[in-house]
Amino acid sequence: MKTWETRFGRRFDSTAKLTCSGVVEWLDAYVDRELSSVANAGVGRHVAGCQNCRTLVSERTRLKRQVKTSVSSVSVPQRLTWMLQAALRREQ
Ligand SMILES: [Zn+2]
Repeated sequence: MKTWETRFGRRFDSTAKLTCSGVVEWLDAYVDRELSSVANAGVGRHVAGCQNCRTLVSERTRLKRQVKTSVSSVSVPQRLTWMLQAALRREQ
């Protein structure tokens, strides 16, 4: 499985102590569950002990959910348009 790290040519250093600013660049991929298990565990360890990063994770999770909701609310009328067009074509 191709992880976020291989795609972006990043390597997670599991021996280095993660700081908040170090964690931030991994957070998006962490929230998307695209990290390798090593990186995921490392970020997860920091997040578990850091209120600041826990807040960031929950904010990003909420944002992602909002994006998903707005995307699906756009695609419904679009599908409706296609259905109407197809129905109209059938009537001709
Ligand atoms: Zn932190």
